[in-house]
Amino acid sequence: MRKMELHWKILIGMVLGILFGFLMTNFEWGPKFIQDWINPFGTIFVKLLKLIAIPLILASLVKGISDLKDISKFRNIGLRTIAIYIATTIVAITIGLLLVNLIKPGNGISEDTIAQLTETYSNDSGVTSKLEEASRQKESGPLQFLEDMVPDNAFNALGDNSSMLQVIFFTIFLGISMLLIGEKKAKPLKDFFDSLNDVVLKMVDLIMLSAPIAVFALLSNVVVSSGDPDLLLALLKYSGVVVLGLILMIVFYSLVVGTFTRYNPWTFLQKISPAQLLAFSTSSSAATLPVTMERVEEHIGVDKEISSFVLPVGATINMDGTSLYQGVAAVFISQALGFELTFSGQLTIVLTALLASIGSAAVPGAGMVMLVIVLEAIGFPADKLAIGLALIFAVDRPLDMLRTVVNITGDATVSMMVAKSVGQTIKPKVKNWDDNLDEV
Ligand code: ASP
Repeated sequence: MRKMELHWKILIGMVLGILFGFLMTNFEWGPKFIQDWINPFGTIFVKLLKLIAIPLILASLVKGISDLKDISKFRNIGLRTIAIYIATTIVAITIGLLLVNLIKPGNGISEDTIAQLTETYSNDSGVTSKLEEASRQKESGPLQFLEDMVPDNAFNALGDNSSMLQVIFFTIFLGISMLLIGEKKAKPLKDFFDSLNDVVLKMVDLIMLSAPIAVFALLSNVVVSSGDPDLLLALLKYSGVVVLGLILMIVFYSLVVGTFTRYNPWTFLQKISPAQLLAFSTSSSAATLPVTMERVEEHIGVDKEISSFVLPVGATINMDGTSLYQGVAAVFISQALGFELTFSGQLTIVLTALLASIGSAAVPGAGMVMLVIVLEAIGFPADKLAIGLALIFAVDRPLDMLRTVVNITGDATVSMMVAKSVGQTIKPKVKNWDDNLDEV
């Protein structure tokens, strides 16, 4: 009998998790039961993925760079990656701004709804913590991110999940130095990283065996922790604009994959779908990274020398879904609260949302922290920021899940574009998701 493909198993887990979550909301003890007995399985899964993210980046990027043989090739890949990332993010923000200006979801929202949302959420710890986090981020100077990228202790950097760019920096430095000392001298280290890379990829396969159960746990928990359904409905038009924008981004990626890389877009979406489903369930591009890397390298077939650099960098700095959402949310809040936005204000959104998405951490809810910075840049009154965030807070989690899907799909698309632009043929290394599991 033909084995069921992984994405179907995960999808079934997700649907059952959502249904189970709704069922449990009918019982008073239901939410606590899910939090105590079901959610830990989701949390363990996310921890396992994070556990292998740093070893995977380290092994895969060292292998990728040391396979290059020539440093100028690496500079070429690096420049192309950054340029294409910026271009796709600008496309995303433009789509978001066009939609929100055309559909104007903030104009129709009633005073009553605004008052109700403000009362429910403006003092909510979720909103206040985002404001605090944003003011901490704002205090740093313009070159702070460069300073932060360089670790002063390699082992601390490797030991801290929030310092992905530091790990990338250290690994590139290591890989380039290995290239410079020559193949013979670097061989023992290279063999070590080659082997580590294979082992970690196997760990990804093993962890993925539990994905259907984990997404069941994660989604049932999202359902029992979500807000008042009436308030969710009041924000339907705003959410609809964000979702429409995100769908258009997926269409855009499919077109790019089909025309530019000549890869069948449908096959691309099918192969990347397990990573998309995990991005949806975890709301974190960082947690999804090991699976995105495995799918792109093994199943889509982008060479490690490209994917091992493009994907971790993308998970940290390329967030098309997040920047699209920031554009829509900033204009929606302005429309709803009667804040006049000029054309130059909209241009400021393009620039700040681009920078904000680069600065957003690849973790749940990070996009909303940077939204505060976008709002401040357009001159939005500081005393109304809490009300602004309160307006969109109720639907932030579901939208976060969806924008994370777009974030990782964008990273995968750009890795294929970079591969194609340097003349690489994209060819899968395995056929089915569990081809690597035969001997388990
Ligand atoms: N959750 C998103 C991510 O990890 C970031 C965000 O938009 O909040 O990609």
